[in-house]
Amino acid sequence: MKLILLGAPGAGKGTQAEFICDKLSIPSISTGNILREAVKNGTEAGKAAKSYMDAGALVPDEVVIAILKDRIAADDCKNGFILDGFPRTVPQAEALDQMGVSIDAAIEIDVPDAVIETRLGGRRVCEKCGASYHIVNKAPAVEGICDKCGGKLIVRKDDQPETIKDRLRVYHEQTAPLADYYRKAGKLHTVDGTQEIGAITAQILKILEA
Ligand code: AMP
Repeated sequence: MKLILLGAPGAGKGTQAEFICDKLSIPSISTGNILREAVKNGTEAGKAAKSYMDAGALVPDEVVIAILKDRIAADDCKNGFILDGFPRTVPQAEALDQMGVSIDAAIEIDVPDAVIETRLGGRRVCEKCGASYHIVNKAPAVEGICDKCGGKLIVRKDDQPETIKDRLRVYHEQTAPLADYYRKAGKLHTVDGTQEIGAITAQILKILEA
């Protein structure tokens, strides 16, 4: 099964990818996570990506396409994979087609901008271990402190209010057209991303069984 999850930043793609990859025993691939790791490790790709990521802009296609191509060539991808955050532009989708990757389904998780702004604005991450929290939906036991390791909770640079607006603008301009791209290919399914998390997972699994 080769699956693409589409949706705005904060639509819940990462959460759903984790649940579904568990159920289907295929890896979930997040280009955002791979890029953050590359930035942390100071690799060439990381150096090329950092300023774009901090500004809420997209990393250039050629950088991300090369990373993705490498990742899906790995052994654990031979029975399929879930792509979370790739493709994000039409040229990236075309590159995937040119690699000979035949997608089974593109699932769009639809969430209104106002909901996204509240979700991302409340997100906190541990600067030490990377664990993720939300001031309303998943608050830590002690405000500002990580439950797992006692590290300090911070707002990710790209979750600052102004950057969130930029990320949403970029999403509507460059990523939202992908819904049409996959609709024309007969692969698009849209789910309501404001539902309870378990209900969204159930709906996605039902689509995949059909
Ligand atoms: P994410 O965690 O998926 O929101 O990704 C974080 C950041 O990584 C994005 O705001 C982009 O700067 C960059 N990024 C992740 N995936 C892609 C992609 N497919 N194309 C371009 N930039 C990406």
